[in-house]
Amino acid sequence: MSAIDIDWDRDGRQAGYLHLPNSTNVSAWQDLRVPVYLFRNGEGPCTLLLGGNHGDEYEGITGLSALAHSLDPAGITGSVIIVPALNLPAVLAGARLSPVDGRNLNREFPGDPRGSLTQRLAALVVSELVPRADAVYDIHSGGRSLLFAPCTLVHEQADGELTRRCLAAADSFGAPFTVVIREPHAGQMLDDVVERSGRLMVSSELGGSAAISPGTMGLTRDGLLRLLAHLGHLSAADLPPAAPGRRLVVPGPQAYLHADDLGTYEPMVEIGRSVAEGTVIGRLHFVDRADRAPQPLRAPLGGILLCVHGQGLVRRDDVIAVIAVPYGE
Ligand SMILES: [Zn+2]
Repeated sequence: MSAIDIDWDRDGRQAGYLHLPNSTNVSAWQDLRVPVYLFRNGEGPCTLLLGGNHGDEYEGITGLSALAHSLDPAGITGSVIIVPALNLPAVLAGARLSPVDGRNLNREFPGDPRGSLTQRLAALVVSELVPRADAVYDIHSGGRSLLFAPCTLVHEQADGELTRRCLAAADSFGAPFTVVIREPHAGQMLDDVVERSGRLMVSSELGGSAAISPGTMGLTRDGLLRLLAHLGHLSAADLPPAAPGRRLVVPGPQAYLHADDLGTYEPMVEIGRSVAEGTVIGRLHFVDRADRAPQPLRAPLGGILLCVHGQGLVRRDDVIAVIAVPYGE
């Protein structure tokens, strides 16, 4: 059995599986099957769309599952590969990390073909999917512990022209914000593999709190069509219009507010709003301490409140907020 039962040269719609052998206490010779779809209509650009890299980020998982059952292969140019639930064990567990080996798929790239299930999944993506694609869009959404103002994400590249193309593709999605970021763990992410190969890479944070809303779902549905048009797969006619977004940058560690104590988080400013440096964006309540008053939480920078903690309970060292500032203005 090949690792992916898709005929990459055949036109039309195919629904198959990415196969990962696994061996557990309850299933010695397991064949884990991760759904993968190919839409192909002749020669042309190839785009890889991924959801469920983290299992509790639902816009990509749900939006790509919907697209895989609605896209008309006769209406596209080139090839579109869709994997709605990449880290399937994590998706089925409603969890960020894989319940099989406890690993975080997006900290495992470029993967290890002789490693644990998650490491082998990363290696399979790198060896079998990324090389087929001209562009990769890996859809994230904050997960349980973070809540973002909907945004697409790009990294600045050494090649300025590649950065410009990534920004243009990210803008085409039509999210309120396009954000330039360099995460502390960027070298372990899928993005790094794609970017080092010179391919176009776009990611996103379309919401969070391990939930989904009509607003973020509508953005995902329409944004995917706009992105596919931008990348040359669909005609631009009849596309849902997008409001102009803003380009922002997360300037570095100074943009992050972390918690010093455990408490419940009282948000006081909506995500996506402008704040001045020092603005009280929320309070932390020490519900186990009769002697301790609530602590005001202040914006570490002036800018846009891009992200806040995604759950009511905050633990020491958690991210409480991330501020982004205008990019290239
Ligand atoms: Zn994620």
